[in-house]
Amino acid sequence: MADKKERNGEFWELALDRAHLGVWDWDLRSGDCFYSAMWSQMLGYGEGELAKTSDLWLQLTHPDDRERAVASGERHIAGLTDSIETELRLKHKSGHWVWVLDRGGVVERDADGRPVRLMGVQTDITKQKQAEATLEQVNVRFGLALAASGTGIWHHDLAARKSYWDKRTREIFGLVADTDEVSQELWHSYLHPDDRADAERAHLAPLQTQKVVAVQYRIIKRDGEIRHVESLIRFIADAQSSGQILGTVRDVTKAKQREQELAHAARHDALTGLLNRAAFDRLLAEHIATARRLAVFYVDLDYFKALNDFAGHAAGDLALKRVAERILGCLPPSVHAARLGGDEFALLVPDCDAAQAERLAGAVLAAVRDADLGSTAASRKLAASIGIAFVADANTAVADALACADDACYAAKAAGRNRFAVFSPEATSGSSGLNAARLAADTVDAMADGRLKLFGQEIHQLGKPWQESRHVEVLARLAGRNGRLIPPGEFIPAAERFGVASRLDRWIIRTALSLHGPALKSGALTLGFNLSAQTLSDPQLWDFVDAVIAETGAPHSGIGFEITETAAVTNFTAAEQFVRKARERRCRVSLDDFGAGMSSFEYLRRFPVDAIKIDGSFIEHIAESRFDREIVSAISGIARSLGCSVVAEKIEAQDALDILADMGIAFGQGFLLHRPEPLQAIVTRAIAIRASATQVSATRASKTRASAPAAAGRRA
Ligand code: C2E
Ligand code: CA
Ligand code: CA
Repeated sequence: MADKKERNGEFWELALDRAHLGVWDWDLRSGDCFYSAMWSQMLGYGEGELAKTSDLWLQLTHPDDRERAVASGERHIAGLTDSIETELRLKHKSGHWVWVLDRGGVVERDADGRPVRLMGVQTDITKQKQAEATLEQVNVRFGLALAASGTGIWHHDLAARKSYWDKRTREIFGLVADTDEVSQELWHSYLHPDDRADAERAHLAPLQTQKVVAVQYRIIKRDGEIRHVESLIRFIADAQSSGQILGTVRDVTKAKQREQELAHAARHDALTGLLNRAAFDRLLAEHIATARRLAVFYVDLDYFKALNDFAGHAAGDLALKRVAERILGCLPPSVHAARLGGDEFALLVPDCDAAQAERLAGAVLAAVRDADLGSTAASRKLAASIGIAFVADANTAVADALACADDACYAAKAAGRNRFAVFSPEATSGSSGLNAARLAADTVDAMADGRLKLFGQEIHQLGKPWQESRHVEVLARLAGRNGRLIPPGEFIPAAERFGVASRLDRWIIRTALSLHGPALKSGALTLGFNLSAQTLSDPQLWDFVDAVIAETGAPHSGIGFEITETAAVTNFTAAEQFVRKARERRCRVSLDDFGAGMSSFEYLRRFPVDAIKIDGSFIEHIAESRFDREIVSAISGIARSLGCSVVAEKIEAQDALDILADMGIAFGQGFLLHRPEPLQAIVTRAIAIRASATQVSATRASKTRASAPAAAGRRA
């Protein structure tokens, strides 16, 4: 029997201790409650430290758990449950809470079957509870992340051949259903035919790999809408069954659209929507490699910079947009158009012969001329200069093809703008404006070897002989190596393009003043110098001019400068400073080629110049064109109100001269009055006139003792 006692008593006690189970034993009749040593130990107490009252456990129970714990016991005692099973927190000796699982029940009843004794065990489940809490947190976070990313979760049970779509998945597919379970065919019925094979393959791939498989595909919703979705899929093995495929699904339509937009933006110019430079280069490279007869057009807008600077960038942008639209509108579908930057465009014309190129260039020129530039810039139209290069050799570099077209474009500009020119590799320096670099280099050489010549053209006071005013505009001429005289219209743009225009202008000024300083000093004549935009913005210009004047003895008042309206607008600040310094020194300043740019008259108020030279294009047809007459008369009216004199250029015919004189235009210049000739000849003549005039007046003075007349009036 000792054996049996052992089993009933110490033996079980040992087992319970090992299992870390605290035992309680509650006698309902006496109200006594026994707690095992392990139970006390679980709560950090030693043997005998706790008073063994029946409600000891309740005193130690967390207030929030008491009601539940008591109820669980009462329900069982009342016979409503088979056993007590509840989780509660007990206070540890050191103050923290210990989660325990309490399980037990009635172990003895009286004769009437009423419970008289209950026993139970409590185990410490704190760790488990913590793990549960952590898991709960993870779940909440995960759920939040899924909700935030709009990701749906689905799985497919391989054995049951059934799929389960969560609410979000159903929303993505536009499926109206209350349950998760869907037939296994359902998914396939949504697939876009073009993506079906790939999507199906990707969904089966996880069976062969441990990895997560990602796939993007399109679905067609029941209402016909096409959406892009992305799924991540993996296989989850299961010992009991064939396992399941678990996946996510996310609607990525917006991201896809954005991606497509970005891809488009990377290839296109944001303002005009035409191809951008990089895309054009790539396309051109492809075409050069494969196509036979390919033409590249380089299209440069004329006078755009002035428009941009004067009317503002918004107006400039609008003009570019309109021009691009018009150009695009006149092109056949096979032609690709690009904006290379600024006001430069390019066309790629596959299968193009000379006649087609000519027709197309004509159409593009007309398109640019006809473009509606918006109200701000409506006063004058833009034009374009087009260079065309044919590419027949598949080994041509993209940069070379474009450079040839650019060269031809430059030639078109040099030839007077609003026209096209075709690149020809045979063209030689100086004859056609091609090979601008060579021409610019030759200009530099010409300064050293005497081939750069000074010419001049008289400026007349209308209705009076030149002898009375003796103003002269200095004009440069380049004697080519073959002896031909190259007009400045050809070599000056080249000089500007290759940065030697400033040197050229300085050379002209220094040479003219050195040779003719004494004549200027004697008042025989005044000289006007043309300045390029580069010279205008040269900060050392006045130091140079002052030094030359000091060396040569030429008086400031005998010197004038002509700056073009376009250059002035383009370099506004520099031009303002230039004019201010000129005025300080009493040098004359004229605004040249006025009207050719895009500026409005308003602009004139900002430059206190001495004279405005109306662009020759308004004068040459003045007899026939009422429009030109109105423009000239308006310009002269404004000029008069501002106190500056007006010079009309390019007077070639008597009727033009008469009209201008009638309008009250004070000064004129043109072949009718004087053809440009070497400056030396003009100076010689002027000195002679001056000498004879002095003689005459000296004679007269000695005869009449009257004082000499005041010098010719000039705006102060
Ligand atoms: P510009 O300043 O407008 O000079 C007037 C141009 O018109 C000159 O051409 C002159 O010869 C030409 N011309 C004058 N009267 C008539 C006429 O009745 N009919 C026609 N058809 N033409 C006439 P040129 O000498 O060929 O000069 C062209 C341009 O080159 C000048 O235009 C000026 O902008 C520029 N240029 C000339 N010399 C220099 C220079 O030393 N430096 C700079 N920066 N530019 C210069
Ligand atoms: Ca001029
Ligand atoms: Ca001019």
